[in-house]
Amino acid sequence: VNGEVFMHPLETRDVSAASIIRECSTNGNGVHTDDGVGVWLDTPMIELKGGEGTIEKRIPAMMRMFGKYGIDIRKEPILVYPTLHYQNGGLDIKADGMTEVENLYVAGEAVGGIHGRNRLMGNSLLDVIVFGRNAGKNASEKSKSVDVADLTLSHVDSFEAEIKDAGIETEVVSPKLLPDYTRKVNNK
Ligand SMILES: Cc1cc2nc3c(=O)[nH]c(=O)nc-3n(C[C@H](O)[C@H](O)[C@H](O)COP(=O)(O)OP(=O)(O)OC[C@H]3O[C@@H](n4cnc5c(N)ncnc54)[C@H](O)[C@@H]3O)c2cc1C
Repeated sequence: VNGEVFMHPLETRDVSAASIIRECSTNGNGVHTDDGVGVWLDTPMIELKGGEGTIEKRIPAMMRMFGKYGIDIRKEPILVYPTLHYQNGGLDIKADGMTEVENLYVAGEAVGGIHGRNRLMGNSLLDVIVFGRNAGKNASEKSKSVDVADLTLSHVDSFEAEIKDAGIETEVVSPKLLPDYTRKVNNK
C-alpha cells in the first residue's frame, strides 16, 4: 500500500506466500477492498525491466485473463493474495507407486514426499506424468496376479447406514474428501 518492496520477487512460493500474509496481517499493510485484502504485484515493472512486449511474450495467458476484466497488466499492477494452490503432502508410496494398503496405487497430488518441503514451480507434472505412468504400469502388471472378489455396492449401503445411525440428514450421495467450495461471483 506504501509502494514499498517487501520481498524479493524471485523467492520460493512458501516464502512469497508467507511474506504477503505477514505484510497484510502482522505489519498491518496491504490494500483493503470490499473483497478482502491484498498486495500489488508490480507487473508494469516486468515491461520496464524486460522491455516492451515482454509480458505478451512470456505470460500471454495471464495478460489475456486479466484483459477480459479490463485490466491491462502491462500498464497497471494487479492485486494478489495467496490461496491454496497445491497440497504438499499426502499418502506414502513405495517406488512402484503402491501405498501401505496392498494393491492400492496412488499418483499425483494425493501422494506426499516427492517434492520435499517445497515444490518447484511447474513441477507437478512430475507427480502426474512420471509417477502416474509408473503407478499405472505397475498397477496394470500387478492386476494380472490379483483375484478380484465379486464387485458390489455394499460400501454405499454401509455409508448410508452410518449416516443414518449418526442422525445426519444430507443430500450427499457418497463420501466426500473435499469441502464445498463456492465461487464468489462479482456482479459489479
Ligand atoms: C490454479 C492452479 C494453477 C496451477 N498451475 C500449475 C502449473 O502451472 N504447473 C504445474 O506443474 N502445476 C500447477 N498446478 C498444480 C497441478 O494442476 C496439480 O498438482 C495437478 O493437476 C494435480 O493432478 P491430479 O491428477 O493429482 O489431481 P486433480 O487434477 O485434482 O484430479 C483429481 C480428479 O479427481 C476427481 N475427484 C475428486 N474426488 C472424487 C471422487 N470422490 N470421485 C471421483 N472423482 C473424484 C476430481 O474432480 C478431479 O478431476 C496448479 C494448480 C492450481 C490449483
